[in-house]
Amino acid sequence: MIRIEDVIEKVENNRPESDIDLIRRAYLFSALHHRGQKRASGEPYLVHPLAVADILAEMRLDETSVSTGLLHDVVEDTLVDLDTIKTYFGEEITRLVDGLTKIAYISDLSKEKQQAENVRKMVLAMITDVRVVLIKLADRLHNMRTMQFLKPEKRARISQETLDIYAPIAHRLGMGKLRSELEDLSFQNLYADEYKKLSKEVEARRPELEATLEKITNSIKGKLTENDVPFVLIEGRVKRLFSLWKKLKKRKLTIDQVYDLIAARIITTNEKKNCYVALSVIHDIWTPVPERFKDWIAIPRDNLYQSLHTSVIGDSGQSFEVQIRTQEMHQIAEEGVAAHWKYKESKLGKREEDESLDELRKTVEKLLLPLVESTQETEDSEDFIESLKLDLYPKDVYAFTPMGRIIQLPRGATPIDFAYAVHSEVGDTCTGAKIKGRIVPLKTELQNGDVVEILTTPNSTPSRDWLSHVATSRARNRIRHWIAEQQRAESIEIGRKLLEKEADKFHISPKKLLNNEGEMKRIANEYGLGRAEDLLASIGYGKTLPRNVLAKFLGAKKFAELDPEKKKETKFQTGVKAVKKFIGLGEDAIIVKGVDNLLTTRARCCNPLTGEDIVGYISLGKGIVVHNKNCKNVKQLMVNKDRIVEVEWAKNEAKHIQSVCLLATTENRTGMLAGITNAIAEIKTGIRNANASVSKDDRGLIEVTIEVFDKKHLDRVITSVEKVPGVIAVERVNT
Ligand code: MN
Repeated sequence: MIRIEDVIEKVENNRPESDIDLIRRAYLFSALHHRGQKRASGEPYLVHPLAVADILAEMRLDETSVSTGLLHDVVEDTLVDLDTIKTYFGEEITRLVDGLTKIAYISDLSKEKQQAENVRKMVLAMITDVRVVLIKLADRLHNMRTMQFLKPEKRARISQETLDIYAPIAHRLGMGKLRSELEDLSFQNLYADEYKKLSKEVEARRPELEATLEKITNSIKGKLTENDVPFVLIEGRVKRLFSLWKKLKKRKLTIDQVYDLIAARIITTNEKKNCYVALSVIHDIWTPVPERFKDWIAIPRDNLYQSLHTSVIGDSGQSFEVQIRTQEMHQIAEEGVAAHWKYKESKLGKREEDESLDELRKTVEKLLLPLVESTQETEDSEDFIESLKLDLYPKDVYAFTPMGRIIQLPRGATPIDFAYAVHSEVGDTCTGAKIKGRIVPLKTELQNGDVVEILTTPNSTPSRDWLSHVATSRARNRIRHWIAEQQRAESIEIGRKLLEKEADKFHISPKKLLNNEGEMKRIANEYGLGRAEDLLASIGYGKTLPRNVLAKFLGAKKFAELDPEKKKETKFQTGVKAVKKFIGLGEDAIIVKGVDNLLTTRARCCNPLTGEDIVGYISLGKGIVVHNKNCKNVKQLMVNKDRIVEVEWAKNEAKHIQSVCLLATTENRTGMLAGITNAIAEIKTGIRNANASVSKDDRGLIEVTIEVFDKKHLDRVITSVEKVPGVIAVERVNT
């Protein structure tokens, strides 16, 4: 078992100026809270965080990483919460532990293999600090090393996940050694029988293979020395079981058909040219297979791997591979990012730690980005990364259903997008949402890792407001589609009423026209429309005027005869008089059900209050816009009086708050503003804003924006303001 002193010794050797006290405190904290817990092996749980910290110290990571290694399971597996971690260990460690806890949660959910790609992306999306990945990989490595005590199913699941997610990430980060170990351990646990069979086959050949390898390495040593090529190490190795197995499966070969079971590696001193000299020596001893030569030194791999690879035909006619690289290249091949960190640091010195961390971040971004590029436009991604550090999915957010399904959404997505992504019906009937068990507004922006539960109510319908709270085209299209359908239904209804009214004016029975399907269709066709319904919809939308429809129905002569306008020979009247004359609420007034829904909107100019006298204007394509009857714009709209319709409030109009601005003219004396606002507050009315000023003629002008439900409410407010001593007049103004 690893002791904390072993870990500390490593950290002290690697980084003499480290804060050892921090590590000790993290150790004690972890020991205290994991006390009594046991691993599957029966050992105390603490063995695990200690081993993880040791792996991290081995990687030469900083004291923050090592301490986080000690604390990484505390939030997940004990009662300690992040706030407590913050109190004891500060912001940075808390952030790291939080990242690790979130990833652990995802891992638990990701049971389906087909989601491996998603999970991998998501893990990357959650990484805001490269140390989170390194600690997670160390954690996984130790778990893989000690998984023999787990049940086979659990072993298989964890191994599959390691192959799907963590080994590729390690590969991307250039951490060859860690990746190999993860892969071989996964192979051993996931395909136990095949692993046993293959390792038996390799073991049977091992003495022979090692003898061959020894011969090869000896020849290389001799020739390099003879030619004065400096080298550090010549290694011979048998191919790793997992990569051998993959090859056998992919090419459908037996082990005897594999020619590169063995390989040799030359590690030269840190001078690139020695690699090329060594290469020429190798090609001098054995004949190379031309198409198998690779120069990864001149053109490094994406993950910064550098090496020369060549295959040669050996003395016995069997070919084998030789890899040639410098010591530094070798370290990068084995340790990847972790080695990079080391080199940067030794070059920059201790003081420049922050800068070196930044450098490292950039490297990691470069390494990890290709993994995610497929789903991302490349444009301005650099800017994003600059601003978001390591947030590799600036444009994506991953959330879960309570059942653990992963939903990938663009950043800015809300529970509404989520609901539509789950199923369009869920979206249509969505009435609320819970995130992590708490009810949230539907416009809440989703965060990575959110578990979202959508609340639905049968028969409920989407709302037009949703359009301003969705980020996916799927949701937007569904909502628009729904609105279009509703609007159509409503516009047909409105169109029918308008046409009936117009027929009335001409003293024609509405039924005579509306029930005459042939005629309706004929007129519709004249407008380029297919069916009678389309004609009604067009009238409802304000695109077609009912008067014109009647003209087509009656024919020019009869139309002129019956035209009520002509009959009266009325001159065009303007002004309020005309409005009053024209409007006067009749029995057939159109009932405005819930203003602001679909085809009826409240005019912005006068913002009519529920209960006030109103008039409707059929505006082209927008349906009926409802104005206050006294609105000065109505006068102007009268020019198109064919478009004016009578409207009234629905009886059970739902109460909703509206802002209204009042202007009180007062005597110029102190305390007026307070007097007025008190009067308003006394009748339990909200005040949004209040302003006092003095007019040129020395009157006080007080503007108050209040929140009222309807006209009655407004009238009450006005009455009580009028009673305030010193108030001369009160009027409603439009702002
Ligand atoms: Mn762990």
